[in-house]
Amino acid sequence: MAVTVGTLRPVVEMWDWQQHGKCRQVDPEVFFHPEGERGSKRHDRDAAAKVVCEACPVLAQCRAHALAYREPYGVWGGLSESERESLYTGAAVPASAAS
Ligand code: SF4
Repeated sequence: MAVTVGTLRPVVEMWDWQQHGKCRQVDPEVFFHPEGERGSKRHDRDAAAKVVCEACPVLAQCRAHALAYREPYGVWGGLSESERESLYTGAAVPASAAS
């Protein structure tokens, strides 16, 4: 596919929302679990991340990005990995997802 000048957008315009994310003030470990973490520890980690997302001014942009690029790991836009997977497959997303 040919890229023309008319289709190009400034990169800063595409990614500026990330500068305003509440997660920038939080340890990334809250949003990204260690390999193999399951059960209550995983649930509690995701829940803590979602609390941050609920107060985030760029939740909508973040969620749209995560779904468009199929971010594979962590909590993005108030959605866990499994919740994003559910959206890709058309399955119902649990009510616990941040709105
Ligand atoms: S919605 Fe959550 S993951 Fe996305 S930028 Fe905001 S705090 Fe970070």
